[in-house]
Amino acid sequence: MPIPTAGPTVLIDGAAIARRIRAEVAADVAARFPDPDRAPTLATVLVGDDPASAVYIANKRRAVREAGLRDEHRALPATASQAQVAAVLDELAADPGVSGILLQLPIPAGLDAPSLIDRIPVGKDVDGLTTASAGLLARGEAGLRPCTPSGVIALLDAEGVPLAGASAVVVGRSELVGRPMAQLLLQRDATVTVAHSRTRDLAEVTRTADVLVVAAGRPGLIGAEHVRPGATVIDVGIHRTPSGLTGDVRRAEVDGIAGRITPVPGGVGPMTIAMLLVNTVRAADRAAPGR
Ligand code: NAD
Repeated sequence: MPIPTAGPTVLIDGAAIARRIRAEVAADVAARFPDPDRAPTLATVLVGDDPASAVYIANKRRAVREAGLRDEHRALPATASQAQVAAVLDELAADPGVSGILLQLPIPAGLDAPSLIDRIPVGKDVDGLTTASAGLLARGEAGLRPCTPSGVIALLDAEGVPLAGASAVVVGRSELVGRPMAQLLLQRDATVTVAHSRTRDLAEVTRTADVLVVAAGRPGLIGAEHVRPGATVIDVGIHRTPSGLTGDVRRAEVDGIAGRITPVPGGVGPMTIAMLLVNTVRAADRAAPGR
């Protein structure tokens, strides 16, 4: 059998693709909601004063306003009780002027995140993390999908990567990324394998992938030995190091082997916010079909 050779690796410019999606959302909102007070509304809820969460929320709120969407925000102190957070979520759930609700995670220890998330009505669940949304996804029914994995699908589509019949390997099985990622790839008719911390020979599994999505949260986990020549590699990992942000993939090693790869930063990260905007408009449209 001939030894497969690969050409130069193409960098997938997630920042540019995300900018394009955000501009499309903004144009759609401007055309359909001439009165800014009636535009779809994203309500963000922040509990406590975790500095990273404050930055993430500020970025999301800025993107919401830049797209012409309405930005509502509720901040609660780290000492807030389960009942107090629940009351804020219930108020937003009942407000017909609120299209989508996002509870920024993680929330302070002592609060029960799953039961708070599940107070968000499925139609307003723009993070796609409620039990109801996960159930719709697992059954392949229409619903709002988690932003990071749907951003990965949008990247693959923008690059024209074929998914039907392709071998896709997802490294990671979290509720937030790995599991919904596998479901979305399955829905697109890929042959999906999920690898995780107990997988016996990770490289043997990942080398079967035409599309390799890495969401392990382990810096530099994936190197040359894990990648089939010509594969598309999507690096979801984000790690802050003294020399800047890095991912789960040793990029320098994989360059020249992978067919395409997402950089960190500038790959999957910007897509997560873009998909949050898409989901907010979708939630508003589903609440008022035919508007
Ligand atoms: P997590 O810790 O909840 O899950 C990690 C998963 O990886 C687990 O299922 C675990 O089984 C698997 N894993 C861990 N070590 C492994 C190993 N050695 N081999 C194989 N599998 C292994 O993390 P998460 O919330 O899914 O996030 C994963 C990464 O993605 C993190 O770096 C996170 O910062 C990043 N992330 C990025 C975005 C974005 O917008 N780009 C969004 C969410 C998460």
